[in-house]
Amino acid sequence: MTNLLSLGNRLVLATHNQGKRLEFADMLEPLGVQVDSASDHNLPEPEETGTSFEENALLKARAAAQATGLPSLADDSGLCVVDLDNAPGLYSARWAGPEKDFSRAMQKVQQALEDKNSTRRDCFFICTLALVFPDGAEYCFEGRVDGQIVWPPRQGETGFGYDPIFEPLEQPASSVQKGRQTFAEMTKEEKHALSHRSRAVAKFRSALK
Ligand code: IMP
Repeated sequence: MTNLLSLGNRLVLATHNQGKRLEFADMLEPLGVQVDSASDHNLPEPEETGTSFEENALLKARAAAQATGLPSLADDSGLCVVDLDNAPGLYSARWAGPEKDFSRAMQKVQQALEDKNSTRRDCFFICTLALVFPDGAEYCFEGRVDGQIVWPPRQGETGFGYDPIFEPLEQPASSVQKGRQTFAEMTKEEKHALSHRSRAVAKFRSALK
């Protein structure tokens, strides 16, 4: 796809999630591609009816490409807890309810593990990126980061969603002084260096080269 996206091209970022939008903008700006947001185009939020991260990402990117006539990038992501049969997974956003209350969603994860008397805290974040062109060409890229659920949540300056209970196995250099950190306790740059989203974006970027 060498000549599909180049410097100065416009790309629609089909996400309504502000936390994700800011992270993507940081990662895509260095490419020199102009990134429009879903709200720049008044895009509706399509219902996520897919049965996999890939299907949901494609569904959102296709809807945006069709509505705008521009190449569109969408992601679907979630937290998978191994001992909960990979829940909340596809339903990560929905566990927070319509009011998007992630302290409630995190509590539900902890409660579900306690209900199972589980001592295993293995989990991972997945991000699937779908890039769809108005002519119908489609590409997907996946990133994953493994970690452990911690309780109680450890909230820092940054982070959103399940960040305060996700402690990645791989840790930034600053953990030597500060101790092990959740995604929410890291700087933005430290999280970007490790996250499922930046790993998916790295694959997307190398495919563009
Ligand atoms: P969706 O991809 O819009 O369906 O939303 C997935 C949900 O997974 C988000 O609303 C977040 O709650 C959660 N999630 C995805 N990525 C992250 C992350 O980097 N940190 C914390 N939570 C995340």
